[in-house]
Amino acid sequence: MIRKLLRKVFAPRAAKPALPGEPARISAAQHGIRREQVSRAAIKVCSTLQDGGHQAYIVGGAIRDLLIGQQPKDHDVATSATPEEVRALFRRSRIIGRRFKIVHVPSGAETIEVSTFRANQSTETDRHGRVLADNTYGTQAEDAIRRDFTVNALYYDPATEIIIDYHHGVADLRQKTLRMIGEPRARYREDPVRMLRAVRLAAKLGLVIDPAARAPIRDMATLLENVPSARLFDEMLKLLMSGNAVRCIGQLREEGLHHGLLPMLDVILDQPVGERFIWLALENTDERVRADKPVSPSFLFAALLWPEVTRKWKERQDAGEPPYPALFGAMDDTLGTQATRLAITRRIAGDIKDLWALQPRFDKRTGKMPFRLIEHPRFRAGWDFLHLRAAAGGIAQELPDWWDRFAHVGHDEREALLHATPKSETPRRGRRRRRSSSSGNNGSGSGDQGASSTPHAAS
Ligand code: ATP
Ligand code: MG
Repeated sequence: MIRKLLRKVFAPRAAKPALPGEPARISAAQHGIRREQVSRAAIKVCSTLQDGGHQAYIVGGAIRDLLIGQQPKDHDVATSATPEEVRALFRRSRIIGRRFKIVHVPSGAETIEVSTFRANQSTETDRHGRVLADNTYGTQAEDAIRRDFTVNALYYDPATEIIIDYHHGVADLRQKTLRMIGEPRARYREDPVRMLRAVRLAAKLGLVIDPAARAPIRDMATLLENVPSARLFDEMLKLLMSGNAVRCIGQLREEGLHHGLLPMLDVILDQPVGERFIWLALENTDERVRADKPVSPSFLFAALLWPEVTRKWKERQDAGEPPYPALFGAMDDTLGTQATRLAITRRIAGDIKDLWALQPRFDKRTGKMPFRLIEHPRFRAGWDFLHLRAAAGGIAQELPDWWDRFAHVGHDEREALLHATPKSETPRRGRRRRRSSSSGNNGSGSGDQGASSTPHAAS
C-alpha cells in the first residue's frame, strides 16, 4: 500500500516530451483511459509483481483496445521478472510453452498472460528466417522493439496510470494507422503470421495498414507455408471469430493473401460470385459475435466448408456411389484437404461431421425419425444450420419452419404435423432419387449444390 502511494507521488505528473530514443510518457488526462475500465485481475497481477520488486505493465492489445473504446478480450502483462519469479509469486500460476515461455495466472474468471521482457537477439531461426525460440530476456525498450505494430507496444502502469509509448503508437492509433515496428520485410520473415495479424487488426480496429507494411505482403505471402498448421489454425480462428470476418476475408483477398496458402481460404474465396451461403455464414457469425452471443468454431467451419462437401457429395453420387457413403466420403475428403494445412482439432472435426451428417435427417418427416432427431444432442445446432441453408436459398424455408413447429408443439400436434407432411416425402421403395420439395432451389450460390438433395434413396 505504502509502496503504491510512493509510486503515485513520485510518478511523473504529465506527459513530458520524449527525448530521442526515450519513450513518451502519456498521463491519464491525455490518454483518457479510466482506471475502472481496466481489468481488476490485470491490475492485481501488476501490483503483486511490483510489490515483489519487479517492473510490471499491462501491455499490447488490451491498452490499444481501451484507447479506441473497444472492450479488450484478454489482458497481457509484461514484466521484468523471469517466468520462474512470476511463478513463485502466484500460487495457481503455470508456466506455458518451452520455446516462448509465458506464465498463465488465473484470477477469477480471467487468465492473465504474463511474459518477461524479451530482447530480439540470439534467437533461434529456421532457414527462412522464422524465429523458433525467443527466451532471451531484456529491457522494456528491447521488449517494445520486438512487438509487431506500434499500437501494440503500449505499456500501461496501473499504479501511475501512465502509458509508456516507445514507438508513437498512441499517435498512430489516433491517425488510424497500423504501422510495423522496424523494417516490415524483416519482421514478416521472422514471423509470417504478422501478415495475417496486420489484416485482422486493421479490420478489427478500423485502421489503414501503413503502405510500407502493406506493400511486401503480396510477395511474401508464400512464407505462410512454413508456419506450423496449429498456429495457422489459431490465427484463422481468431480472424473468423473476430466479429469482422467479412471485412477480414475481403481484405485478405485484396492483399493477395488468399491463394495457395490455406485450403480453407481458397474454398471460401474461390467460390463464384454470389456464393451466398458462405458470406451469409460469415455475416451471421459477425452479428452473433457483436451481439455477444456464443459462436462455435465447428458451426462456422461446417458452414464454410459445406459448399465443398455438397460439391464432392454430388460428384460421388454422380459416379454411382450410394448417397450415405457418398456423403461420408465427401466429408472425409473435405476435412482431409483442410488438414494438410490447417490443424483442425480432432474435437472440432468430429463436431463438424456431426452437423453435416444431421442435415439429410431433416428431410425425413415421417414415422419415428423426427422424434429421434429432436432428441439428438446436436439437434439445435443442426437446426440452426438448416436455417442458414434456407436463408441462402439452398432449400425451401418451409423445411426449417416445419421443424420449428415440430420442436415446439405437444405430442398430438406432432402426430398431426407428421400426417400433414407433403406426400412426396413419404418413403417409397425402390425409388432412387427424388427432387424433394424441401430442396427447392439448388442453384449455385446457395451452398447446396445439387448434391444436397438428400440421400433419399437410403431411406
Ligand atoms: P487480440 O487479442 O485483439 O487478438 P493482440 O494484439 O492483443 O490482439 P495477442 O495475440 O493477444 O494479440 O498478443 C498480445 C501482444 O503480443 C500484441 O499486442 C503484441 O504486442 C504481441 N504480439 C503478439 N503476436 C505477435 C507477433 N506475431 N509478433 C510480435 N509481437 C506479437
Ligand atoms: Mg490480446
